[in-house]
Amino acid sequence: MSAPESPREGLLTARTEESSQYRRPMEDEEWRSVVLELRRGLARLDSRQVQARVLGIRQGLNCLDAMMSRYCELTCGSCPDRCCHGKNIFYNRADLLFLASSGLDLPPGQTRARHGEPCRYLGERGCDLDRARRPYVCVWFLCEPQVKLFRQEPPHFQRQALKWMESIRRSRLEIESLFERASRKDGR
Ligand code: SF4
Ligand code: SF4
Repeated sequence: MSAPESPREGLLTARTEESSQYRRPMEDEEWRSVVLELRRGLARLDSRQVQARVLGIRQGLNCLDAMMSRYCELTCGSCPDRCCHGKNIFYNRADLLFLASSGLDLPPGQTRARHGEPCRYLGERGCDLDRARRPYVCVWFLCEPQVKLFRQEPPHFQRQALKWMESIRRSRLEIESLFERASRKDGR
């Protein structure tokens, strides 16, 4: 499937980097109150603009899922240094804005409540979350053996996958920009 031209009415002066806000350990109670606050902010936005981007992100994630699952099947079983053991993987604000507006079940909390704890979603057979509900860094990350597999793909496949990644990246930044613009108008 080819990457869509998502509608970009009133094209935004988008952020070029995602905010690091909330990219830290968090107790579940704080997580719930952050999500509530973000939902209040999202309710003030033009839902058509947000949903166009959410839809694009979900399509992109669906398209990347097969490739990522295939690579994980080929590489993760024999991995000597599993990336999910990294202690610095967190949901950020763009993840939360996407999840809060996507209609997906929200994960119960941040990846960990305290520094140094393992990711709460790491189960015996890998990540317990479906791909769309993981922090996006867990979705796009290709480790070295997976980069090698990617380079062996036909060029048109590589181009298409990179287009999806770029489209997801842009849509996430635009949701953050919409959110910030509305917050500024409200003087928050
Ligand atoms: S994605 Fe790569 S680094 Fe992570 S567990 Fe799989 S093989 Fe290891
Ligand atoms: S959320 Fe899932 S993919 Fe990401 S670090 Fe935790 S277990 Fe791994």
